[in-house]
Amino acid sequence: MTFIKALRFRSLRFKFVILLLFFSVLTVASIFGIMRKVLMQMEETLIANRLVADINYIEDLIGSGDWNIKSDAIYRGDTPIGDGTEAMANFRPFLEHERKTGTFSYVFIKRNGEGLGYVEGTATQKGYRQGHYLRVAGSTKDPNGQSIVGTYIDKQVADALDEKGFYEGEANVAGGMIYCRYNALRDKDGNIVGAIVVGRNISELQRHVREIVRMMSIGMTAAILLLGGILFLSANRWISMINKIVNYLKIIEEGSIPDEPLVSRSRDEMGMLVTEINHMVDSLREKEILRRNSEIDQLTGLANRFGLNRHFEEVFEDCYKNGSPLAVGIMDIDFFKPFNDNYGHRAGDECIAMLAGILKDVERKTKAFCARFGGDEFLIVCNGLGRDALEAIAKEIKDRVLEKRVPHAYSQVSDIVTLSQGYCCGVPTQYKKLNDYIYMADSAMYEVKKSTKNNFKLAEMPDAFRPNLSGRDGGRSCCPQCPWPQSQ
Ligand code: GH3
Ligand code: MG
Repeated sequence: MTFIKALRFRSLRFKFVILLLFFSVLTVASIFGIMRKVLMQMEETLIANRLVADINYIEDLIGSGDWNIKSDAIYRGDTPIGDGTEAMANFRPFLEHERKTGTFSYVFIKRNGEGLGYVEGTATQKGYRQGHYLRVAGSTKDPNGQSIVGTYIDKQVADALDEKGFYEGEANVAGGMIYCRYNALRDKDGNIVGAIVVGRNISELQRHVREIVRMMSIGMTAAILLLGGILFLSANRWISMINKIVNYLKIIEEGSIPDEPLVSRSRDEMGMLVTEINHMVDSLREKEILRRNSEIDQLTGLANRFGLNRHFEEVFEDCYKNGSPLAVGIMDIDFFKPFNDNYGHRAGDECIAMLAGILKDVERKTKAFCARFGGDEFLIVCNGLGRDALEAIAKEIKDRVLEKRVPHAYSQVSDIVTLSQGYCCGVPTQYKKLNDYIYMADSAMYEVKKSTKNNFKLAEMPDAFRPNLSGRDGGRSCCPQCPWPQSQ
């Protein structure tokens, strides 16, 4: 199942398997065909050479002298060979030839002008067209054990003999296809008087060739399968590596940087590609560390304005898409300037770090995002929280600061460190910007500062928001320390 799953139709692996199968079948088929042809030709050439030698040998065995015709019989010199009858047929040299070479041989007499047809009392084939060369003597009998002396050879062979003086190829001999060599026999004046033939059973040859081809095909199919298997395994390794690289790059595309590097044991181009990707990821990781560091406030370890800006954009986009509420809170330590002036800058830093510690706890608990906005001012961004949850957070921060009981003899509202908070919440629209939320939250905090301090105030972001340009600083910026231009 896993293998089939891995072979998805559009995958590289599937295409490769199909290509491999196609080429394997094509290669086996073409090699099989070529081998068969080549072997057949080789065998035929070999056998043809043998048959020429066989013809010379049988002629030597028959005797010496010219071929000639006397009283309707064919002679070699004075040796009678036959006249087409069993009684006259000279079998001795032909049988000796067959015994010594395993090859049959016959002699024919040419019957000029004689009407063609079946010879009575002999076995012939249906549809077999007889020529005018009559068999007079030879070595073998037909499959039923009858002598085939007195039969005519095939018309096609007879025509070739008349035309070229020889015939080489398959021929029907006594009902079986035999690979033969026929030579025309000439008298001393050069006239064709008969023919001589030697032959071998072609079916045996074909069986032999088929057997060799079969053995070689099995060997070659096994070799191609082995080669295909090796190719598939190698390609599969590359394809798996490509899939691994694609998945690895997808993680990067989604905005994360993988902890582990890609591993490849190959030293080829694939290995080089993996090494390059690992270098690229290393440099991305370094840049990411630098970026993160540049977004962190050194004193508190909370995000600074850069971090806040980037995070806010993400959260804003998220809330805008989902139609969920977004809240921004601003908090500022009360009477921090006199605290600093009287207890010292170091104590001031510790006080700022104390507040940052509380905000980090709130971050962990509520998934809110906190940042140091500057000086003694902090900012909190909450995603998807309702008014009640927001109030609970504001109250917790207030209580936790009071619980710390950091003495502040120079505060005009308490004898310990306190802080004022202002919040603004509302569903984002495309016209509302971070500055608008900060502006509203800051206005809420300003009201707390102006009245009691040591408290918090929640404000709703109006649907049709328009910043109050006659705010606490006359509308030049959204808050005293904010260098960002006010939203238009
Ligand atoms: P308010 O109650 O209206 O907030 O009055 P405040 O005295 O707190 O006035 P403000 O918030 O403007 O005071 C900011 C002071 O914070 C000014 C500066 O002395 C101090 N401050 C700014 N940054 C740092 C810092 O990094 N470390 C320390 N120790 N003090 C800082
Ligand atoms: Mg202050």
